[in-house]
Order: sequence, then structure tokens, then C-alpha cells
Amino acid sequence: MPENDRYARQRLFAPFGGEGQKRLAAANVVLIGCGALGTHLAQHLVRAGVGRLRICDRDFVELNNLQRQVLFDEQDVRSNLPKAAAAAAKLGRINGDVKVEGRVVDVHPANVESLIGDADLVLDGTDNFETRFLLNDACLKLKKNWVYGGCVGADGMVLAVRPGTTACFRCFVPDAPEPGSVATCDTAGVLGPAVGVVASLQAAEALKLLTGHPEALADGLITVDVWGSRQHVFRMARNPECPACGKARYDFLEGGSSGSATTLCGRNAVQIRPAAEASLDLPALERRLAGVGRVSRNDYLLRLDADGFEVTVFPDGRAIIRGTDDPARARAVYAKFVGS
Ligand SMILES: [Zn+2]
Repeated sequence: MPENDRYARQRLFAPFGGEGQKRLAAANVVLIGCGALGTHLAQHLVRAGVGRLRICDRDFVELNNLQRQVLFDEQDVRSNLPKAAAAAAKLGRINGDVKVEGRVVDVHPANVESLIGDADLVLDGTDNFETRFLLNDACLKLKKNWVYGGCVGADGMVLAVRPGTTACFRCFVPDAPEPGSVATCDTAGVLGPAVGVVASLQAAEALKLLTGHPEALADGLITVDVWGSRQHVFRMARNPECPACGKARYDFLEGGSSGSATTLCGRNAVQIRPAAEASLDLPALERRLAGVGRVSRNDYLLRLDADGFEVTVFPDGRAIIRGTDDPARARAVYAKFVGS
């Protein structure tokens, strides 16, 4: 084995070996969400030598991300870069052999199947129940293995879902919790090391699946508390009454493609997604808004500061409006500056 083989140490690990490396190089992984968990996940997969990685994320890099989102730096914040673009650029410098595709996109019922349709495995790097339920539905329907991960405070959970074989996400969380009823990163904060542990456990489950070792998967839900120094695996049986995997009812996938206004966790911000995808001419919009407030623009987005709001507009017509967590107010701001 040549010393300059970048995967030498990984191949030496017996269960992985040359065969595992070959399988990994042929694999296509889709990562949904490239924040705290997502940046760690992407880095693990790309350094390990996955064949292709598609990164889907709707957001841009902010200063308070840098505490735990390992692929980003201060220059990304200054450049207003979308996370998917910043991550793809960084990952390209880490391992040029991996085909990394950054997609600046909000994952919703109308596009999720096309985004994950060619995946061998889907990784959950999201921070909200809505998208996880959607992923669960889409992965069950398309029979894609996926690995759930969640992290708040110093605690986290990981579950590898194999459709038809293991319990699914909805077997243990039957319905979305009421807003405000569970701790979020907004109310409980989150520790960088907790994120790192949870993402590493997710990545390990992913590598087991991708290299053909499902027998090595944790037999259930892994829970971890890095502050209390505890880790546990809860056996999880499939729930025959589960609407998703038991009855093949995909409530979240069938939610349709209508527009939405979504309050973003801990951001004092709302995402507006128009009912129909647009193809905005950002330079034209920049000229139109020049007299309204302070406008800046890069290849991926336009930023307007006006009336106490920070409005970030993407070419697909989507916008993130900071300065309110009220969807109605955000819709009004969107209508005023971008159009209805
Ligand atoms: Zn289920």
C-alpha cells in the first residue's frame, strides 16, 4: 500500500478494507442541511472518499454559525455566501476526487424526490421536524436508507433508517411536536462538541451502510449526552400503526407544493417561498431597490437592508427576512420589496 495513498489508514481498518473503499467511491450521497451537523457530515464523507455528494441547503453563513459549523470561516460571512456554495468550495480543496454539488435550495414536498432520487443514502443535517418528516416520507417511498441526527444543548440522537427493515423516524415521533413544546437550539443552545459527536455517530452509521456492513449498525436509537458523559442505544421495534412505514401514508410528502412562510429557529427570521418557483433577475432587482435601502449582491443572492429588515433574496424567488419572526409581517415585507 503506497504511503501517499490518502485512504491508507482507513483501508487498514479491517472491516473497511479495500472493498469498503471501492464501494464508498461508487456511492452517491445526498446531504439535506449543511449547518452544524451537515458541515461535519460533509467533511467526514468527503475525507473518507465518497464518490459523489450533493449538498442541499437554503441558508447563508452568519457569524454565530462559526462556533460549531466547521467548514465555514469569517470570509464566508463577509462574502454573504450561501452555505451550500461555501461548503462545496471548501470540500473541493479537501478532496478533489469527490464530485461535490452544492445546491442552494429549500427542500420541500415538490422537489425532495428529485433531489434524493439518485441517492444511495440520504443524510439528515436539518434542524427542524418539518423537513425530517418530509425526508422520512420521501426515503420510505423511494426506499432510500437515511440517517437521522438531532442535537440540542449537550444531547443528541442518531437513528439509521432502512425502509422495510428498521423502525422509521415516525415510529418514535408520530407527529410534529407543538411549537414551543420541545427544547431547540434557540432555547437551550448547543455545544460544538455535542454536534461533533452526533455527526460522527451519523457518519459512522453511514459508512457501515455504504461499505456493505448493515450488521454493524446500532440496533436502535443512539442517544448521547456529552456533558453527563453518557451514551445509550434504545432498541426500537417497528410500530405497525406507524402512518408512514406501517400504512404507507406519506402525510408530509403529500403536503403539496404551495408557497410557505416558515419561521427559522433562533434567527428572528422568516423564510418566504413563493408558490411557484421564479427565475429572478438579481441585477435588475438590485437596480430597482437601489433607492429603497442598502443593497448588495453576489452570484448567489441579493441583500437589502431597509426599514429595519434584512431581506436576502435568492434567484428562485425565495427570501429570508430577518427582523421579525411573524410570518404575516414577513410576507408583507416580501410583497413590498420583492413582489407578491
Ligand atoms: Zn414507522
